[in-house]
Amino acid sequence: MKRMTQMAHEKLSEVIQLGDRVVDATAGNGHDTLFLAQRVGTQGEVAGFDIQPEALHATGLRLEHAGCRGPVNLYELGHEKMGQVLSAWSGTVQAVVFNLGYLPGGDHHLITRQVTTLPALDAALKLLLPGGVLSVMQYHGHPGGKQEMDAVLRWSEKLDTEYSRQQMEVEHPQAPKLLWIEKLNL
Ligand code: SAH
Repeated sequence: MKRMTQMAHEKLSEVIQLGDRVVDATAGNGHDTLFLAQRVGTQGEVAGFDIQPEALHATGLRLEHAGCRGPVNLYELGHEKMGQVLSAWSGTVQAVVFNLGYLPGGDHHLITRQVTTLPALDAALKLLLPGGVLSVMQYHGHPGGKQEMDAVLRWSEKLDTEYSRQQMEVEHPQAPKLLWIEKLNL
């Protein structure tokens, strides 16, 4: 499991620079939000979304404990709203990160679902700069996970040629799969 999230962070490190704008679509316990905030530094901007107050609380604490001072805005809203909330960021974002599934340590029945995940992915693409990336960690071991992952894959197969797409996986039945989409610099 660790391997895939590390792989995502390594790939994100290659494309995110100090001063960039980035989005964490599923703040959860805040690991990705903190990672993003550290990559973009105090001149960058981070927006984080989650529908669970406890997730945003955990994320806020993690940032505080790490002494993170960069501009991070956390929204207690579904990520499907990111297009409206971040309309001023359209075409300016370097990376949008999704970590699907349930909140570790939280309610396992409260999961991300394709009905909101797919509109959120569409909204995320509109935010990207040319050369910007969408990183989607997909879990399939929990009830509903496989359906969501299949729906996300079908969605990604229909993307037009403006985007490149890779699906990364490791040989482990429970390991999440990483979907990596790049808006090409055409
Ligand atoms: N499965 C990952 C963690 C995922 S956390 C792991 O094992 O590390 C997923 C987060 O998405 C949860 O905190 C959940 O509250 C959040 N979430 C669910 N639906 C959402 C939505 N529509 N918009 C934003 N966040 C959502």
